[in-house]
Amino acid sequence: MGRDKSAGQFERAKRVMPGGVSSPVRAFNGVGGIPPFIAKAKGSHIWDVDGNEYIDYVGSWGPAILGHAHPKIVAALNEAIENGTSFGAPTELETELASMICGAYPSMEMVRFVNSGTEATMSAIRLARGVTGRSKIVKFEGCYHGHADSLLVKAGSGAATCGEPTSAGIIEETVKHTIVCRYNDLSGFENAMKAHGREVACVIVEPVAGNMGCVPPAEGFLKGLRDITKKSGALLIFDEVMTGFRVAFGGAQELYNIKPDLTCLGKIIGGGLPVGAYGGRRDFMEKVSPLGPVYQAGTLSGNPLAMTAGIKTIELLSEPGVYKKLEEISSALTDGIKEVFDEFKIPNRINRVGAMWSIFFTGRPVTDFVSAAENDGPKFRKFFHFLLDGGIYLAPSPFESAFVSLAHSKDDVRKTIDVIKLWAETEKK
Ligand code: PLP
Repeated sequence: MGRDKSAGQFERAKRVMPGGVSSPVRAFNGVGGIPPFIAKAKGSHIWDVDGNEYIDYVGSWGPAILGHAHPKIVAALNEAIENGTSFGAPTELETELASMICGAYPSMEMVRFVNSGTEATMSAIRLARGVTGRSKIVKFEGCYHGHADSLLVKAGSGAATCGEPTSAGIIEETVKHTIVCRYNDLSGFENAMKAHGREVACVIVEPVAGNMGCVPPAEGFLKGLRDITKKSGALLIFDEVMTGFRVAFGGAQELYNIKPDLTCLGKIIGGGLPVGAYGGRRDFMEKVSPLGPVYQAGTLSGNPLAMTAGIKTIELLSEPGVYKKLEEISSALTDGIKEVFDEFKIPNRINRVGAMWSIFFTGRPVTDFVSAAENDGPKFRKFFHFLLDGGIYLAPSPFESAFVSLAHSKDDVRKTIDVIKLWAETEKK
């Protein structure tokens, strides 16, 4: 599979953009090699500039749950664009999407739209500090909540791939207020809260972690967080930027039946356009400007194109049988992959919650960042490139989740499993 054009475009990009990319993981530092430059995408497939076709399990890192360029989204956007692309003034579209979100997430009585997941979590934390008058926050090792200063401590995703659990340019005064606990370790969390609970403004968590690979919450973990935060007066923030409308229509909070104080959304609610949102209890959200003293604003926030794509996406996701279908395709895929690995005696753990999954090359259960890091990196690199050359596009890092969309077919699943079987055969030779 030739990638000469991608190689040329990558060289040119590197001269004018750090690493040649707009977001670090895309540079393939975790796996080496040349990233395919993408020319177009349709349904479950993407094509690079050399004309190679891939089955796509990245799905723009989560938003593409309907598949790429869904005809109804394209039609809605074509219609909307004729009316202008941004007004910096209120539109009915925002109220419509906010109402849909509040309907699907009963814990969210009011919503504020922003432009990315990073803005959503950053703003939710400011709000939690504004509401409580407290400084400290708690996060969990391996959870990524975007790149705001106070959250870029022991973050997963690209930061983990690059071996930079934190970042240069962040001052100690900022991160000294961030307490880091171990994911799925309720007693560790309880001890931290015993020591600092009264100073903690909020606890932010990915209710299904997706940025150290996919790591589900252990039985009782989320409920424990809920009970302990309630006692201490800290707000519980579910970062559902990845899990929202992904693991269930009502996100992880519906799946595990836990009501957080604040929720952050992104990815799917923008239908592939840049969007984030945070929301929660009305009395908290009424502290946000212009009603309250917690300032937060945005020139392009509530952008009419993004709202249009979001509304149409959620409409399509609310049709009967959608999440059952996602579950069926996803389980057929991961069960088939596991069968191959087991047949060839390749140590593996495949974690999956709904249409979000990842493969770890380890013999032990993966329940937190330490166990995720036991993944065999060199094996993953070989596996990744074998699949890429076989027309299967996975995220170029073991610390990322993969995603199935409604556009993935039985044929896609069969082809993916066939390529993995070929890899397993070469691996065992
Ligand atoms: N929170 C979670 C759980 C995420 O997975 C991400 C991005 O992957 C973010 C926040 C940041 O979102 P964005 O990249 O839109 O800033």
